[in-house]
Amino acid sequence: MSHIVHLQCVSCEKTYPRDGGVEYTCPDCGPLHGTLEVIYDYDLIRRELTPTKLKQNTNYTHWRYLPLLPIEKPELILPLAVGWTPVYRNSKLAEEWGIKELFVKDDTRNPSASLKDRASSVAVVKALEKQVPVVTAASTGNAASSWALFTALTDMQTIIFVPETAPRAKVAQLLLFGATVIQVKGTYDEAFDLCTQAAEKWGWYNRSTAINPYLGEGKKTAALEICEQLEWKAPDYVFVSVGDGCIFQGMWKGFKELYQLGLIEKLPRMMGVQAEGSAPLVQAWEEGREECRPLQPRTLADSISVGMPRDQIKALRAVRESDGQFIAVSDEAILEAIRILAREVGIMAEPAGAAAMAGLKKSIAEGILPSDARVMVMVTGHGLKDIDGVMQAVTHQPVTVHNDLSDVQEKLEPFLS
Ligand SMILES: [Zn+2]
Repeated sequence: MSHIVHLQCVSCEKTYPRDGGVEYTCPDCGPLHGTLEVIYDYDLIRRELTPTKLKQNTNYTHWRYLPLLPIEKPELILPLAVGWTPVYRNSKLAEEWGIKELFVKDDTRNPSASLKDRASSVAVVKALEKQVPVVTAASTGNAASSWALFTALTDMQTIIFVPETAPRAKVAQLLLFGATVIQVKGTYDEAFDLCTQAAEKWGWYNRSTAINPYLGEGKKTAALEICEQLEWKAPDYVFVSVGDGCIFQGMWKGFKELYQLGLIEKLPRMMGVQAEGSAPLVQAWEEGREECRPLQPRTLADSISVGMPRDQIKALRAVRESDGQFIAVSDEAILEAIRILAREVGIMAEPAGAAAMAGLKKSIAEGILPSDARVMVMVTGHGLKDIDGVMQAVTHQPVTVHNDLSDVQEKLEPFLS
């Protein structure tokens, strides 16, 4: 394929041919520091990806950006509607919070109900291109259920590693899609390492975050869509929930590529939001370190409950390059954000999916944003995927009555003013 130049290590900048022996990370720098970036021929893409051509393109999925995606055999793309998720403008909250414009992108509306489908849809094509018999991934739940959905439509066997604490709905998705599910008695970080060892030992194709260079490529389409949906005027600030950092860095790459292609004139600031009990990137950024110190994560937001972010090098670089920030929010603030998204925007978000909104609210309270700010908040996962988490956000319970109107009247009394 002519539009990919090569893969490049983010640390030593050594390059690797796209169809060479190096598939995951730079052998010289190792899995954490040696994550690879896909480098394209931007002069070629500039001719293929223009606002006029996109306007004429009736493919309203993220495959409308195919020239900027690492696919060699487009005929292997699975026919699922990924991406082109709605962006809602919310004038009421913008006015209340004293910012110029607030947009919310609802990425719960993907096939498996999370943003991770953007990555899985790309990774499954890469696996099919390689004709591998077995694929694997470690995940807090969403990446796995997404991966299982896509691989279910192929002949490949799927073996998934999740922490024992993964929410039931996500495990239900995995089982329903036919994956072999290995529940690890330990954290996500431990499940990740075990999966990596198994993949190496048995030669499985690995979709685990960060080590697979193509995942961020899929995730960056959220940024491409945002710019097109806002008529090529990027927001000033983009708030994203952050666990491993792959969505965050992927989106930043997407914005940078559009800038390089001349499709946007200004880059946004990337605002990464972590849960207070799982904020290694916030700590590293505040202390000016180049990498994270591992910690034991503790948060109800399972999708961002990560003690050792696998995409930390790129994520820390994204926040510095974009002059953005990392922000930590409490679990209580996340629960409040779930309520705000439900009642003010009409989106049912899982805790991790709402963390970005909590980060915006905190930034406003701290006076970080100017009054002319145009802000985008990403909602990354659906609330039905973690119903126990969402139930912690509700502030009242159902009223149980007998089949009797007078009982209804009596029980409703306290609710009627
Ligand atoms: Zn390297």
